Amino acid sequence: MVARRGRVIVVGALLAFSAGWLVIGLFHVWSAPIGGWLPLPAMCLIAAYTCGQVTRRRDLPAPTRRFWGWLAIACLDMTAAVLSNAWDALGSGIPSQRISPLTVALYLAANCQVMWALLRLPSWQRSRADWIRFSLDSGIVLISTGLALWHFSLRRMELWSSHTGSALSIFAIVVVASVSMITFVKAAFGDGGRIDRRALHLLSISTAVSAASGASAPLLIAHQPYLSATLLAVPIAVFGVELAAFWQLGAVAQPLATPARTRRSSLSPYLAIAGIDALLVGSTLHRGAENELIATGVVVISALVVARQVAALVDNGRLLRTVDANLTQLRDYQRQLDHQVTHDALTGIANRARFEQRITERLADGDGFHVALLDLDDFKEVNDRLGHGVGDDLLKAVSRRLCEHVRDGDLVARLGGDEFALLLAAPSGADADTLLIRMAAAVHRPLLIEGHDLLPRISLGVTCSQAGDTPGELLRRADVAMYAAKTAGGGRRASFDPVMDRIADGEARLGSDLRQAVTRGELFLLYQPIVELPSGALAGVEALVRWQHPEHGLISPDVFIPLAEHNGTIVAIGRWILEQVFAQVKAWQLDLGPRTPGTTSVNISARQLREPGFVAEVAALLAENDLDPALLTVEVTETAVFGTGAALDAVRQLHALGLRVALDDFGTGQSSLSLLVSAPVDVLKVDKSFVDGVTLASTQAVIVEGLIGITEGLRIQAVAEGVKTAEQAERLHQIGYRYAQGFHFARPMTAGDVALLLERTPAGHC
Ligand code: C2E
Ligand code: MG
Ligand code: MG
Repeated sequence: MVARRGRVIVVGALLAFSAGWLVIGLFHVWSAPIGGWLPLPAMCLIAAYTCGQVTRRRDLPAPTRRFWGWLAIACLDMTAAVLSNAWDALGSGIPSQRISPLTVALYLAANCQVMWALLRLPSWQRSRADWIRFSLDSGIVLISTGLALWHFSLRRMELWSSHTGSALSIFAIVVVASVSMITFVKAAFGDGGRIDRRALHLLSISTAVSAASGASAPLLIAHQPYLSATLLAVPIAVFGVELAAFWQLGAVAQPLATPARTRRSSLSPYLAIAGIDALLVGSTLHRGAENELIATGVVVISALVVARQVAALVDNGRLLRTVDANLTQLRDYQRQLDHQVTHDALTGIANRARFEQRITERLADGDGFHVALLDLDDFKEVNDRLGHGVGDDLLKAVSRRLCEHVRDGDLVARLGGDEFALLLAAPSGADADTLLIRMAAAVHRPLLIEGHDLLPRISLGVTCSQAGDTPGELLRRADVAMYAAKTAGGGRRASFDPVMDRIADGEARLGSDLRQAVTRGELFLLYQPIVELPSGALAGVEALVRWQHPEHGLISPDVFIPLAEHNGTIVAIGRWILEQVFAQVKAWQLDLGPRTPGTTSVNISARQLREPGFVAEVAALLAENDLDPALLTVEVTETAVFGTGAALDAVRQLHALGLRVALDDFGTGQSSLSLLVSAPVDVLKVDKSFVDGVTLASTQAVIVEGLIGITEGLRIQAVAEGVKTAEQAERLHQIGYRYAQGFHFARPMTAGDVALLLERTPAGHC
């Protein structure tokens, strides 16, 4: 950069030297005229070198490098021309302004190279109106410069020829003038994206000035044979080339702007008119009052016409700017609309329409890909419990985390609610799996929103595209797989398997059977004892529902309760269970008197709790059976209560009615200890998965031990679930547990068996 600038300064200094030499030479006779010629070849060589440097910049487009290559060659040619010119002027020993045909040929060759370089530059596509306007402008400029050239130079051709020894030099000057015209054309219409526009303008100006000085200098120096027009014309042109090349080198440091279509109005015709007016005034001066008056009138009228034209241009400009601004605004609005139609407003990622459109495109391409459907586990609970603001932030965070892992060709979309979809460009299942594992891990990272610690989890179903697929079918398969992942406990992923379709069909059939199970009397209840430790005395029972299916035999509640929750039959089934249990307790009271189980627990699902009027129904049943509410315990899961404000309210109201509340399967859901404070919990049922490890040196054992401390502190009764061995029972007792339930003590049994058992054993109290 420093060297480049240094070269420009050197060439500029040499130009100043040449101009000074010429001016001083007008009044002083140079004894060693060679001094004026010395800088010229040096300047030409420096300019050739700088142009050559531009050609070596690989980051420039080929036409640009070619253009500067031709200019470098022209500068070398110019070096030969000035040396030949100097020999013509000084070779004979007597200084003269003679120009040999060889010199003229060399100058012409250099000019032809420049013309060729300019003509080869690509031009922008212009409209017909552009061309007409440009032709008119060029016509004005050409006629004006032609007249000036004729006035100042050509009409004195004889004088000139006598000095230079030939009329060829005039021809050379005409060529130089044409070069400047072509440069002007290119500057106005040239490809600004390829040649730096400033450089092109400078080239235009310097060739024009060089031509003008070359044309007029002979008249000034007619009587100074030790001077030459070349001494000014060549340095001006070469300095222009050097500076233009310097600018071009600087412009490549940043990417060149893409040529924008702009509305430019050129000043050139007005300058040309002003010039010709000046010429007119000059040539009519002292030619009689009439001539001067007419000339003044012409000048004034042309000035007025120009002023009128400029006013119209300003007006047009303003109008066009308004139109441009409006067009841009209309375009921006269209872009916004397009974005809204294809993107999700909350997260900003693609929406269902965009996703299905992309699937259609990918299917048409024929390349294999994967589609995954993601559903946030327990999102409804977060929304209901912590508010929609937190829910929205959670969705945004999840979408951001998913997008972190998206590669070229993949797409993340939000289909609605808490459902996201992924299009994975991976044709192989292993690749898709690796990516999904990474995405799920990213989503599962803890998250802090508005002071709430959240642990987002997603269930994920994935399927691979097949020939003949439609977007709907692909999403259906991914949905079936996702549902399988959800029912397997959530927080996991499942790949679609045709078996899932059969299971889904089977579930659909089972679901419809379930609707009639109550009316057909296929459901019945068993009761599992809850015992005191260490005596094993019966402290209470838990009612557990069973389904005797006419075809499939006995079906576990683990299978049909989630199904009943899914299709809503849980409401009717739950009502039937409550009626049965309440009636049974009443019957035990009547039959067994004081031996009636201390408490009878009944499981209540989240869906039941959210059902409007549920508490009133329980209250009505209590009244109907004339039961003491203290004899009944409602078992609710952590997730159900954590879930919704409505469920928590129902639990509070049940507690207010006098029923006891047990938190079931503790440790498998949210496991939020704050729940023990916010919900009115009387009993904590520690899940069997923890009890399983109580006799081992396991983390489960640590938790089981820790929980007893907490329940004691909060005056909550702890019940250990799923006790299968005497060792477990003993260990639980050692830790501090006083109540337990499990196959070790008794399996679920009929109400009659409970009565028999109670008749055999002393009554306990729970
Ligand atoms: P739960 O409420 O935790 O019920 C205890 C489950 O553990 C029962 O399974 C019981 O048979 C089983 N169990 C008890 N001791 C042991 C043991 O030592 N080892 C093992 N492996 N299991 C033991 P069940 O009856 O199959 O019920 C499963 C779940 O279905 C229940 O878990 C409860 O969540 C739900 N459920 C059962 N009956 C009802 C009902 O009437 N209404 C509702 N909403 N859900 C019910
Ligand atoms: Mg239970
Ligand atoms: Mg349980």
